[in-house]
Amino acid sequence: MYDIIIIGAGPAGLTSAIFARRADKKVLVLEALTYGGQIINTPDIDNYPAAPHISGYDFATNLYNQALELGTEIKFEKVIDIEVTESIKKVITSENQYECHSIILATGADNRKLGIPMEDELLGKGISYCATCDGAFYKDKLVAVQGGGNVALEDAIYLSNLASKVYLIHRRNQFRADETLVKKVKSIGNITLVLDSNVIALNGNDYLEGIDVKDKDGNVTRIDVSALFVAIGRIPENQNFAKLVNLNEFGYVISDETCHTNIDGIFVAGDNRTKKLRQLVTATSDGAVAATEAIKYINNKK
Ligand code: NAP
Repeated sequence: MYDIIIIGAGPAGLTSAIFARRADKKVLVLEALTYGGQIINTPDIDNYPAAPHISGYDFATNLYNQALELGTEIKFEKVIDIEVTESIKKVITSENQYECHSIILATGADNRKLGIPMEDELLGKGISYCATCDGAFYKDKLVAVQGGGNVALEDAIYLSNLASKVYLIHRRNQFRADETLVKKVKSIGNITLVLDSNVIALNGNDYLEGIDVKDKDGNVTRIDVSALFVAIGRIPENQNFAKLVNLNEFGYVISDETCHTNIDGIFVAGDNRTKKLRQLVTATSDGAVAATEAIKYINNKK
């Protein structure tokens, strides 16, 4: 029997584990894929206080090791269901079942897809959702990025150092990304902006050979690129909890700065909850708050 089961080993979940272990609670972290969450793909974080220039990979690895050193159990198993009774909570994975007093949902969010034909078939063959993972395959080639947020602009900057040319395609003529990134993108010679436009078709059978881009007037242009990096935001990973906790219309767990959900003893931390600002610093902050609330809940119960 665990005191707290944390679902997700990203910055929010691992920070929860650190706080819970320091309160001497028995903690299990369950992670479906690998530790680190979204941040693992960021080359240079640069806005986390007192840690300038750290890479996402180093940040996540430090966090993971810190949680392990404090005695957190971490298992790589996909959670498929949660059962709640008055006295106990049961977390069911594809391999096992675990019992606990309290749960923290820290599952983060997954890549949003364009939803156009061949997107799945060409994954890894020209379609990618991670420039830092796959950019090196396209050295000196023509590539494109779709999106207008921080991730898309960071990807375009990163790729401009590898590819011969980067087309940055965005559906509006204003970027959502921070102004510093917008200025930087505009200053880089081998980034071409394609605004008010969307990728509507992917050309190529075995590998991506080009994309069709449609502008707001309906004109379609073919651009011959070897890769398209899709960076159009993320979808919260709450599908398995939809019957259990209240979600909003976009699928985020409804909560506030206390990280409580509508179920007693179940808390939520990080990008999968309703909040104004989804950043690394707010994810780790949530991790600390959710763990503290879970500790209070367990102590009161005992
Ligand atoms: P985001 O900020 O939500 O931006 C998504 C972008 O994709 C928007 O420009 C959006 O266009 C566009 N988009 C959404 N759906 C689309 C569709 N179906 N077709 C075409 N375009 C579509 O997402 P993000 O860039 O992944 O960033 C996620 C969060 O992480 C943000 O809060 C971001 O600030 C944060 N982040 C921070 C850092 C950092 O601090 N260093 C780095 C990376 C990410 P519209 O603008 O028209 O809606």
